[in-house]
Order: sequence, then C-alpha cells, then structure tokens
Amino acid sequence: MGILVVGSVAFDNIETPFGKAERCLGGSATYFSVAASFFTDVELVAVVGDDFSEKDLEIFRGRRVNLDGLERIRGAKTFFWSGEYGYDLNVAKTRDTQLNVFANFQPKLNERQRNAQVLFLANIQPELQMNVLEQMKKPRLVALDTMNLWISTKRAALEKAFAHVDLVVINEAETRQFTGEANLVKGAREILSLGPHTIVIKRGEYGVLMITRGEAFAVPAYPLENVFDPTGAGDTFAGGFLGYLTSRREHSDLELRRAIIFGSVLASFAVEKFSLDRLREITLENIYDRYRAFRTLTHFEDFEVL
Ligand code: AMP
Repeated sequence: MGILVVGSVAFDNIETPFGKAERCLGGSATYFSVAASFFTDVELVAVVGDDFSEKDLEIFRGRRVNLDGLERIRGAKTFFWSGEYGYDLNVAKTRDTQLNVFANFQPKLNERQRNAQVLFLANIQPELQMNVLEQMKKPRLVALDTMNLWISTKRAALEKAFAHVDLVVINEAETRQFTGEANLVKGAREILSLGPHTIVIKRGEYGVLMITRGEAFAVPAYPLENVFDPTGAGDTFAGGFLGYLTSRREHSDLELRRAIIFGSVLASFAVEKFSLDRLREITLENIYDRYRAFRTLTHFEDFEVL
C-alpha cells in the first residue's frame, strides 16, 4: 500500500560556489517523493499556493506519486527557502524561510492515505508531523526527519515526536545540536533512548551511519567528481532508503543495509545538478548500475595470516 510522506513542497533560492538557482523547485517532500517513487507508490501530503503552476507539477507526472493530498490554497504563496553553501558543502546556511501556506496547514487524510504501510514525516513543523501521525491506522514503520530550526524553536514538540517513531533520519550537526554530545555514537544512543529502534545519521560527503539497538553499519558517500548542489540530498537519501524498504516484505538487517545503499545512490544523483534536475533524468537502470558500483567501492576480503 506504499508510503505516505508529509513535508514541504517549496520554491528555493540556492547559491553554491558553483552557481545559483532562483525560485527553483524544492522542498523535503518533493525530493523524497521523486526518489521513493522509483521503488513504491507514494502518497504526497503537502500544500502549495496558487503560484505553484501546472508546469511545476510536471516533476510528479508519470511517476508513482499520488497527488490527492497536495492541497492548493488560493491567494497564498508556496513555502519558500533560501540558502547558501560555502566550499564545505556539508553546511547549509539558511538566509530566509517563509512558511507561507504551511503556517495553517491541517491536512485531513483520506482512507487510503491513513492505511499507508510506511509513513515518512519529512522536515516540517513537528506539530504538523504529529497531526499526520495521529491520523494513521497501523503503519508498519514510521520514520522522521527534522532540522536545526525545529531543534532550536520547537524542542518539546520534537522530543514528543521522537518518542512516537520507529526510525529517525537526521544529520550529523543536528544530532550534536539536539543532544549536546560531540560523540556521534553517544548522541545516537541518546536519541534511541527516547523511543526509536533505529537512527540513520547523514554525514554529507562522509556518508551515512546507521545505528540500531544491536549493531552499527556505515558507508561512505559515492565519490563524485562534480557536486553542484547538495540541497535535498538528505531527503533524496530518505526517499531511496524508505522507498526501497517499503517495497520489501521484510525489514531485516540485510534489507536495511541494501536500503542504505539505495538511499546513498539516489542522493549521489541528486547533488550532480541544481534542484531536482538530475533526478528528473535518471532511470531505474542508472540506479542499479550505481548500486553495483557502490558494492565494488566498499567491498573487501577478510585478511589472511601468512
Ligand atoms: P535537505 O538539503 O535534504 O536538508 O533539504 C532541503 C530542502 O528542505 C529544500 O528544498 C527546502 O525547501 C526544504 N526546507 C528548508 N528549510 C525547511 C523547513 N524549515 N521546513 C521544511 N522544509 C524546509
């Protein structure tokens, strides 16, 4: 029955050392949906203003993304985010955030949406994340992402949300900010103690670290020569990761590890061009090829004592 995502659909202004893009398509739920839809059916729950055109919607056409949950509000503006990156592409500096239509968004899920198998609470106000979670029937897996803005302004609501999810997808700096702990493994344990059974820490060009109650798994990012725009890499990772997992019968450790690689593969495509431009072009075949390249990259044999 697929995956339901609630998060932002946005217009972004982005500046990196390699160029800039103005009012381009963005938003956590946009990146997530496109990535996840390579593997499973996606129910997108979000809101846009009447400045969001038919042309902007084209990104979802021909993909497994159901737009019944994408509300359009007359006379209002779409969420807007403006950010810049220096040569350290792991650190985004927010210049401006305008919630616009998201300020009063109260989605009401329909029967099909409430029955989704997996729920992803992408980056948006934690109260809104909880509002959606409370409407769900009995999802197999609930995952959540967040960001520095909500950690500093909505901490109590965010803590409550952590307590109700199975899996947290969060970046390295946010883990440190939330826990006040410099050591990532200790920070991860602290977040797990709030309730989730798995935490996936995104480390930008250094890759991903997954910690479950029992074990840890780490992979590097795919080494690319050209990285133009890291915006959306985290959401694209989450889309590949959870989209693949949703398509599997079991959420075993083996499948979780494969899912981490599919997430990393999708994210590696997202950063090759601005906005969702590279994700628009790729096929499932491209994804499988890079998965195999990833396997070669990270494979090594046990040692032999001579
Ligand atoms: P990422 O680079 O994966 O962390 O996510 C980038 C996307 O998040 C951008 O396309 C933005 O539109 C969106 N975004 C930025 N700030 C927020 C926020 N406060 N709430 C929701 N979405 C946001």
